[in-house]
Formats: sequence, C-alpha cells, structure tokens
Amino acid sequence: MTIKYEKLIPRFLGYVKQNTRSDENSTTIPSTERQTVFLNKLKDELNEIGMSDVKINPSNSYLTAELPSNLDHEVPVLGLISHIDTADFNSVDIKPKIVENYDGKSIIKLDDDGKYTLDPKVFPSLLKYQGQTLITTSGDTLLGSDDKSGVSEIITTMEYLIANPDIKHGKIKIGLGPDEEIGTGADKFDVPDFGADFAYTVDGGPVGQLEYETFSAAALKVHITGKNVHPSEAKGIMINAVQVAVDFQNALPSVEVPEKTDGRQGFYHLLELNGTVDSADMSYIIRDFERDGLEARKANVKKITDELNSKYGEGTVEIDMYDQYYNMIDVIKDHMDVVKIAEDAMKNLDIVPDEAPVRGGTDGSKISYMGLPTPNLFAGGENMHGRFEYVAEESMEKAVDVILEIVKLNNNRKK
Ligand SMILES: [Zn+2]
Repeated sequence: MTIKYEKLIPRFLGYVKQNTRSDENSTTIPSTERQTVFLNKLKDELNEIGMSDVKINPSNSYLTAELPSNLDHEVPVLGLISHIDTADFNSVDIKPKIVENYDGKSIIKLDDDGKYTLDPKVFPSLLKYQGQTLITTSGDTLLGSDDKSGVSEIITTMEYLIANPDIKHGKIKIGLGPDEEIGTGADKFDVPDFGADFAYTVDGGPVGQLEYETFSAAALKVHITGKNVHPSEAKGIMINAVQVAVDFQNALPSVEVPEKTDGRQGFYHLLELNGTVDSADMSYIIRDFERDGLEARKANVKKITDELNSKYGEGTVEIDMYDQYYNMIDVIKDHMDVVKIAEDAMKNLDIVPDEAPVRGGTDGSKISYMGLPTPNLFAGGENMHGRFEYVAEESMEKAVDVILEIVKLNNNRKK
C-alpha cells in the first residue's frame, strides 16, 4: 500500500504492545496503574509532536491537548476523543501479526499451531479486505484496536496538521481517556475544561460507521439469601438460593437476550451467576433504545423481585439497579449539523456512511448528555474485545482522512 501517514501504523503497533487493560473491580481512576503509565507516555509524545497545553486532568485522568487555530477567523472548536484502555480479555504480551496483501478468502492462522484462526466462513467481514494489509492477534490476546486505533488516528492527524501548516484548521482539542470498557471513564469528563463546541469519539468499528444512536442502559445486581438446612429435613424449610436465582432468570422474557435480538430490540443480559444453597449473586445489564423501554424493563425487574419475595419471604431477593447511560439521540437531534459534517466528510472521500444505531454505548453517550454533542466515528477495527480482533491498515488511514476532511469542512462553519 502507499503510505500516506508514515507513523500511523508503527505508532499503533507500539501502542497495542502496552498493556492498558482496565479493571471493573477497581475503585481508582484510572482503574489500573498501567493506564497511567501509558497516559504519561502519550503526554510526552504529544509534547514532542508540538501540541499545546498538554495535561492530564487530575480529577478524571483525561489526557488533553490543544492544536491552536491557524485561521484568521473563528470557527467552532472541534474535539476528538478516544479511550486508551482495552476490554476484559487477556492483554499480556500482545504480539500483533501483519498479513500483507490479504487475498480475501484464505484462513489466517493466529497462533502457530493454528488452534485459533480467522476464517472468512466464520467472519465474513474478512471478504471486504481483499488486497489490504491486516493486523491481527497471535491468538492468545486481544489486539486492542479498540481503541488504540482511535488513539493512533487522532495523534497522527495532529502530527500531520502540525507538519503541514498550509492546511488550514480551527482550534482542535483532543481528549484521551481511561476506563471506557468498564463504563466509567467518561463519568467525570469535564466539558467546560475540554473547551470544544462539538466533538467525535473515534471509537467505532469498520470504515463508514457513524454512530449517534446508542442504547439506554442500566446495570442490575441481584443478591439472593437462601436458607440452608440439612437436605433430610429440608421439606418446607430450605430455600435454595441457586433455585431462586434460576426462577429469577426464568421469569425474564427468554427471547429478550443478546443472542436472540438485533436491530432496535433491547434485552436483559445475565453476565454472571455465582451461588450456593446459602446465597447467590447475579449480575445483569439491561438495554433498550427507548428510554420508556428501559423504564419498562426496570419495572419488570422490580415486579419479579416482589413476586419472588412474596413467594420465598421478604428480603430473599435484593436488587441494586442503576442507570449507566442514555441514548445520545435525545441530545444529538438538536445538533444534527454535527452528524452532517461527518456525513459530508465521508461522502467527499467516497465512503458510504453507515448510521445504524449502536447496540452498545460510547463515551459520547455520556459526554453528549453533559452538553457536548459527540457522535462516534469509525476507527476501523473488527471483532473487538477478543482474540479474533483485527484491523486493516487501510481502514486506519481512511479514519485519518475523514478526520482531516472534517477539519477542513469545519473551516466554513460559524462559531
Ligand atoms: Zn472502544
């Protein structure tokens, strides 16, 4: 391939080798010390490439920096955001593999033994990448394209603009944050301190993705207290916490689960179940595109809890349920110009925007609700969060192209 952005891929390969897995059981910000180590390295790099006002915000651990405008008029300040942590999968000693000029049909061996493979029959997305250079895992870790791709693309765009001062641009703010994968990273995002008028997370999947509709989300923890007596004299006395847990799960609509839903359908997803006769704990996530739908699901959980408690005794089932984020469309609908500029940028580059709603959330879901409209742009990765993750170098270049095009289109907008 012709190399447009010389440092993009070397930068990415360097980043993915640095373990930045977050930890949902941690209470610190960032959740893991290794993220701080990486943020400090990025901070040095941003200073080296010539960014201004490079700092790590002590309250939220976002690394932010500014590229001052070189225009003679004011335009809206563009923000670019991505996350530095990787998902809940082995991330120790990541050894990215490069498959040059992929033929679009062969099975790619990830590990040397070929226990794990990328097979186009299993992953038809591979068919799109004929003739391209793929970066894959070596089978035992994830790749971390989510979202080291976004981080690399944003920093490379900044480096490119600094190296090419003839390209005119307004003020640009970048924000690289921790703990997106555990859903807490953006909780303390500081919109006034960031200082952008509109922003994008660069955290989407394949080329063309442009996301501004997300799930509305709640988390649910269920604690069940059983009554353990000797089985020989249990009749009418024993409450088997595991059985109550099974009853709870079976009371939820069996078809409203991730594996049986798609498109705009919501679900209840049992993530974890641990139990003995004595006690059991379950952890769920609840998702719906409509706010009313989310509320209805939460009401259903309360109803099931009440029914089980009236059957087994008050206090048998205890729930802790809280909202995580809301569908950003409620905010974005009043700022559709932010979507339009991204659409136009893609169309100018012959990329067809794919605006399907995300069956998940993004940091932009929260940040949009804080007052900064923040749709999500593609970063290029496929099969995120596991050993089958891969990204094409060409996709990452296109992400940089799109960001640069947005920068240029923004020059004609009024603050
Ligand atoms: Zn991500």
